[in-house]
Amino acid sequence: MKPFDSLRKLFGAIGGGENRHGADNGMISCDEAKTRLFEFLDGELPEISHAEVERHVEVCKACYPRFQFERHFLDALQAAEERGTASPELRDRILKVLAEEGANGSS
Ligand SMILES: [Zn+2]
Repeated sequence: MKPFDSLRKLFGAIGGGENRHGADNGMISCDEAKTRLFEFLDGELPEISHAEVERHVEVCKACYPRFQFERHFLDALQAAEERGTASPELRDRILKVLAEEGANGSS
């Protein structure tokens, strides 16, 4: 058994009800997903939480576009870093844009 499997069970997120949207059934809420997504993109989120975010995004139409947008941004940022063209300032600016986009996308 992989360590993540037992962690998932501890989180109680394994099981049915995956298609329902809400925080009552083991699914993380949109707010939770958004918070974790930012942490994941910032490299601070453990793999298990990343999986929870992906599970949420898979079934939540509200979060899916936001997730795609941020993934795309992160890919672009990584490509720039590999070319050695991304400065810490650029990274901060992109993260700020993401935060603003997320704020605009809520409610
Ligand atoms: Zn959502």
